[in-house]
Amino acid sequence: MASHLNAIDAVVLAIGSHVVLDRAGLGALLAALIDAGHELIGPAVRDGAIVLGPLTGIDDLPRGVGDEQAPGHYRLRTRGDDALFGYAAPPQSWKRELLVPRAPLVQIRRSAAGVAATPAAPPERKVAFIGARACEIAAIEVQDRVLRDGPHPDADYAARRAQVFVLAVHCGSPAGTCFCVSMDTGPRARSGFDLAATELVGEGEHRFVVEVGSEAGVRVLSQISARAATADDLDAAAAVTDAAAARMGRTMPAAGLRDALMANLEHPRWDDVAARCLGCANCTMVCPTCFCTNVEDTTDLSGEVATRSRRWDSCFTAEYAYVHGGSVRPTLRARYRQWLTHKLATWHDQFGTSGCVGCGRCITWCPVGIDITEEAAAIRAPGAETRS
Ligand code: SF4
Ligand code: SF4
Repeated sequence: MASHLNAIDAVVLAIGSHVVLDRAGLGALLAALIDAGHELIGPAVRDGAIVLGPLTGIDDLPRGVGDEQAPGHYRLRTRGDDALFGYAAPPQSWKRELLVPRAPLVQIRRSAAGVAATPAAPPERKVAFIGARACEIAAIEVQDRVLRDGPHPDADYAARRAQVFVLAVHCGSPAGTCFCVSMDTGPRARSGFDLAATELVGEGEHRFVVEVGSEAGVRVLSQISARAATADDLDAAAAVTDAAAARMGRTMPAAGLRDALMANLEHPRWDDVAARCLGCANCTMVCPTCFCTNVEDTTDLSGEVATRSRRWDSCFTAEYAYVHGGSVRPTLRARYRQWLTHKLATWHDQFGTSGCVGCGRCITWCPVGIDITEEAAAIRAPGAETRS
């Protein structure tokens, strides 16, 4: 393992080491990432929400802004401190940067010389994800298994993924809809980052305890001034995520859930939830692990150029399950059941993990407040094991 001396304070940097940055140091870190050719993507306040988008530096971060989330409810709030990462999972996830909503696959051009097909070039874009949470890194790893490491890799996804630098920020501000602890995906990221920071704010202090997770992290950090973390710094950082874990808004009844769901495919709760569900597909759009896509052909007005694109789709639409002459899931009951049992049961069979990371987005952004933990618990409840 290579190690580097930090440029100014002679801190020895290596994977697994911890340093401390003040707020100016974090700004310098972001500037160093830009200097290294990365486009910064991170949180900012826009349209009454915290959204992920291009950042020019530390001043774009949502300083002093938190959120409150509940089923079908999202509001920003003033925190009363200077925290830059004091919010829970925002509406969008990093999925939109990796499995982009629309990606061209091939362009077909007709000319006097004939018809020529040109596959889409792999994107060349070095991106740094600023502030990714543990649950979101777990979601990226879920999508990696499907879209990069599986038997049918998605070339666009794989190319984007290979160019990502992850500056994670461990979560200290879970929402009422969060349940990463029950899914063992947070609030502290254990891997999957180049650097991971814990933000310590309050009582006149504002600092970041940063763990190095990769050689790329070592290289960036070696460009800026930092001091080595002390045992007190590490204890304070651990206290932030310990407190977050204790404040989880929800829990998922994980034990025996797969078998309980598969043994209850005719449970009356599916009718109950279908009566509430609007079939709007919001839950799948905001979910960081959902990966349903469709392929669409469009032509330009001249009729000379046709483009085939991959675009997001949802198992909640009737069209998605349309197979020569009809839908194989014609009812909302069938579509909700398909979504929930895939996420929490058959995903284990396919990919060896749950398809849910406990981010809570599907609960917050469901317009009628349907709660995946509540639906799972209702079916998992004692006495439900054999209902069919
Ligand atoms: S199913 Fe809901 S809680 Fe689970 S990962 Fe998707 S959006 Fe997050
Ligand atoms: S569960 Fe909620 S968000 Fe999902 S399709 Fe139904 S109404 Fe829309």
